[in-house]
Amino acid sequence: MATGVKAQRIEFQEDLLFTHRGLSGPAVLQISSYWQPGTPITIDLAPGIDLAAALAQAKARSRRWIANELAQWLPARLADTWCARQAAWQRPINEAGDKALAQLAEHLQRWELTPTGTEGYAKAEVMVGGVDTRALSSQTLEAQAQPGLYFIGEVVDVTGWLGGYNFQWAWASAAACADALAAATQ
Ligand SMILES: Cc1cc2nc3c(=O)[nH]c(=O)nc-3n(C[C@H](O)[C@H](O)[C@H](O)COP(=O)(O)OP(=O)(O)OC[C@H]3O[C@@H](n4cnc5c(N)ncnc54)[C@H](O)[C@@H]3O)c2cc1C
Repeated sequence: MATGVKAQRIEFQEDLLFTHRGLSGPAVLQISSYWQPGTPITIDLAPGIDLAAALAQAKARSRRWIANELAQWLPARLADTWCARQAAWQRPINEAGDKALAQLAEHLQRWELTPTGTEGYAKAEVMVGGVDTRALSSQTLEAQAQPGLYFIGEVVDVTGWLGGYNFQWAWASAAACADALAAATQ
């Protein structure tokens, strides 16, 4: 699944998870670092596929239900649930209108939604924001304005994508700070 925040054109192609509380999974965790409350995100549920063309081709050769055709590219239960949203999508594909199929493709590949919120800090894997890096020494992480005061890891305004970058930052900044402290006490 591909998610994107429109204004900044930030995009990720990752897995998407439908949970009983809402959307989750890597795609949503990634885009959440950029999302601002009240703004929409756009989800392509079939990235890399020209779904409009694929459905038009299926219409010419198949009598299967639209949801069954869609299940080639989407999880079957998602295809079923999506097609249940409109009567025009609940029929054999050879009986579907061209406009209805084009609209179905557009909905699935440009699904725009405005999240009502997030699970907050309690469930967050990483926080955006924190102590401004410009206020710190890049060599030692010591505060420019307060000698002897150091900030490392999560509390600093450094946010990584999924993939271990936040651990890397926590460990690397800790090592740099520890080296500086050791040198200062020699
Ligand atoms: C569920 C989850 C999954 C994650 N998965 C990944 C991942 O796969 N890859 C990745 O790169 N990052 C991941 N992260 C992010 C990563 O864990 C953090 O970025 C990283 O641990 C930050 O390290 P830190 O040492 O700065 O802070 P922390 O690990 O939060 O350590 C701070 C420590 O300070 C202690 N503390 C707090 N207040 C006080 C106090 N007043 N006195 C004494 N001690 C105190 C806390 O108990 C804690 O032990 C994940 C985070 C979560 C929550």
